[in-house]
This record gives sequence, structure tokens and C-alpha cells, in this order.
Amino acid sequence: MGSTTLTMFNVSLETLQTVADNFHTALMAGLCKEGQMIRALPSFVCELPSGREEGDFLVVDLGGTNLRVGCAQLKGNGQFGLDMKRWALVDEMKNKAGCELFDLIADCVKSYLKDSPHQTMGEALKGRPISLGFTFSYPVKQDDIDHGILIQWNKALVCNDVIGLDVVALLQDALNKTDLANVKVSALLNDTVGTLAAHAYVDVDTKISVLLGTGTNAAFIAPLSLVKKLAAHPTIQSHKEMIINTEWGAFGDGNGDLLPLLPLDKKIDSETVNPGAQILEKLLGGMYLGEIARLALELQFGDGQMLGKPFDLETADLSKIEIDDGHGGVALKEKLGWRDFDDTALQQAKDICRSVVKRSAQLCAAMLVGIYRLLGKPRTRTVVAFDGSLYEKYPRYSEYLEETIAALEPGHTMEFQLRKDGSIIGAAVIVAARKS
Ligand code: ADP
Ligand code: MG
Repeated sequence: MGSTTLTMFNVSLETLQTVADNFHTALMAGLCKEGQMIRALPSFVCELPSGREEGDFLVVDLGGTNLRVGCAQLKGNGQFGLDMKRWALVDEMKNKAGCELFDLIADCVKSYLKDSPHQTMGEALKGRPISLGFTFSYPVKQDDIDHGILIQWNKALVCNDVIGLDVVALLQDALNKTDLANVKVSALLNDTVGTLAAHAYVDVDTKISVLLGTGTNAAFIAPLSLVKKLAAHPTIQSHKEMIINTEWGAFGDGNGDLLPLLPLDKKIDSETVNPGAQILEKLLGGMYLGEIARLALELQFGDGQMLGKPFDLETADLSKIEIDDGHGGVALKEKLGWRDFDDTALQQAKDICRSVVKRSAQLCAAMLVGIYRLLGKPRTRTVVAFDGSLYEKYPRYSEYLEETIAALEPGHTMEFQLRKDGSIIGAAVIVAARKS
């Protein structure tokens, strides 16, 4: 094993170029036809914000770990305020029947309105009409901005009786039953779409968004001339562009040769709840990087024995190991029960952990370059908005990503910025841009 463990996560520039080109092709296929590996889901968000939108908006955000209800106050000039309440999606909620889940969301909306200090929210509780933006981080098939059929759950939710149903109607019915018929669910959006819209409110040159948290996904503004599968759709005729939710985490599904998969990547995939699905996500996402590193450390130092248990080492530990303030060694001792390493072994362990994260950043860079090429390599400033704890908190993630993009696409015009809370702000921005 020895040095191969130290180098096995290296990906050549040539391979990364191939990933970029193959993703470009797969994304194009998804824009042309239904049922492709890359779903390229139309969001029906065609009106992008100017930054001048104003008003208080009610938002519900159903993610993988939390339900959040909040009020976003758009102040114009790209300025905003935000106030919200959060409920952890405990296991008991995740397995509920579909209508119970939506009843629960409606109860949370009511509870938020009762406690909110905002006058607009208090009036909504008394029956004044108000629009609600609904951020929903699961793949839905939309044929308009306020209508979306759930394709499948992923992450941890398993309310299977909701698949094939319109999640907007389910939430509206639940609100009506809770005496909140005046609250109208007027936009449904994915969190990547929200992040893009939120950052476009702040900076109108934003064209792409990337999420790097538990999983990964990206959205971009596509000229409608490229979205051939919508050619016959009535709402399309009057618009020029639309935000597309790529669902890029599925790259490699059904064709593992598209990615440089190692035996340990295949082992992890085979033991997940969705083997064969979300292959790219399993190389990039925070849910998996710690475990990939643990298996690599086991190969290098385990002497045929296990080093800790599956998923004992978390991606947040890889950040601690990288920061190198003594906590790296502590994480390895506490999480893996590995006591007898010397300085050389610790240094090697760090290099291995870093190479796992670096591979994630490099593959993410190649995917982004695929989108940039699909857009025709624009010569104008092209802002990419990022959200997610992996991007935000791993010390050198953005550095690895940016140096790889520069190598793959010299002279590109992309700028990389962090956009937190985009899933809430973006929902408000989309509701507001629709009204104005
Ligand atoms: P979500 O994916 O639910 O939207 P986040 O964006 O916060 O939530 O992402 C959570 C993921 O980020 C976790 O799976 C974890 O692996 C990863 N993460 C959390 N903290 C850190 C950290 N300090 N460094 C690197 N990754 C982290
Ligand atoms: Mg998130």
C-alpha cells in the first residue's frame, strides 16, 4: 500500500478536463430531453431580481436537516434583514405520512407568525393576504413556479406517499386547514435556485450557484434557446432565460466510468441507502468525505485491522486536522482510537485527509467549468455564489477549487463568493420579483 494511499486521490488535469467536457455534454442532454442522468430541472424562475425589490416576505425552507420558517425583509439596494425559527427534522418527523408532514409544517408557520415581532406577520395571522415562498430541497418536476410534483425523496426523508404529488397543493391544503387560507404559497424553489436568486439580488452579475454541504448541487441561468425540452411550453415564449437546477450530484449514475472512482468509493456507495445513485455527490459531499478519509487511513495504517467504525470520522474533523493547532492529532485519537502515531505518521495522515478534500474541490471545479463552457465561456464578469458548510468551513476548499479552475480554463471571468441563507432570502426575492 504505502505511498499509493498518499497519491491515489490525485486526479490529473487531463482527467479533470474530461470530466468537464463529459458533464457539459450530459447537461446539454438534460436540457434537451426528459429522463436523462442530469435532470436539469426547469425552475420556471424567469424574472431575475434587480436588487430594488422591497417588502416583508414569509418563507418556509424544508431542507435535509432542518425545517425553517422565517420573514425576509427586502430593503432594496441589495440590502435585506432576516428573522427565522428552526425546527430539527427529528427521525420521528422524517417517517411521517405525507399529509402529517405538511400539517406539521403548517403548525410551524402558525407558531412562527404568533411569535414574530414583525407587523406584517402579525397581520397575516389575523387574515391579511400574504404570499409565501417555499424552498424545498428535493427534486420536483415543475411546469410552473407554483406547482411541483415530487420525483423522489433523498437525504433522510422517506414519506413515500408524497411521491408523484404536488407539494405546493399539499402545503396549501395544510395551511387552509390551519385557518391560514390567506397565506398563499406562490413560489416553489430548490435551495440552489434560492441561493442563485438571493445572490443575484445582491450582485446582478450572478449566473451560477453551487451548494457544498451534506450533499452537492448547482444551478445556473440558462438562455432558453438551450432548454430545448421546453420549446413547446407556453410560458417560455415571452422570456429569454430561466434558472435551471442541474441536480449534478447524479453525475456518474449508471456510468461510473465518467468519474475517477476508487475501490473504496465503490465500497462506500454499495453500503449507502441509495447504491448506484448520486455518485458525484458521494465523492464531493460533506456526508462522505470523512468516511473516505477513514477508509484511506485504514489502508495506510490499519495493518489489516479496522481504524474506528464507519462514519466515526466526520468531514468537520478533516477541517480540524487541516487547521493543525494540535486538534488534528486529538481528532484521530478520539474518533479512531489511534494512539500510537509519531510525527511522521501524523504528517502522512494529514496529507491523506487533505488529498480527499482536494479531490472533492478539484472535481467540483471541473463540473463548474462544464457549466461555464455550456454558457459559451462568457467574457463578462460571471459571479458564482456558494453555500454550504464544507465550502464555508474547510480552510482551503475555495483555494483548491479556484486554482483548479484557473488551470482548466485560463482567463475565465468567474468570481467566487459566499452566500449564506440563500434558501430563505432567495425565496423572498423570487416572490418579490414575480410581483413587481
Ligand atoms: P445542509 O447540507 O443540511 O444544508 P450544511 O451546509 O451545514 O447543511 O452542511 C452540513 C455538512 O457540512 C455536514 O455533512 C458536514 O459534513 C459538513 N461540515 C460541517 N462542519 C464542517 C467543517 N467545520 N468543515 C468541513 N465540513 C463541515
Ligand atoms: Mg443547505
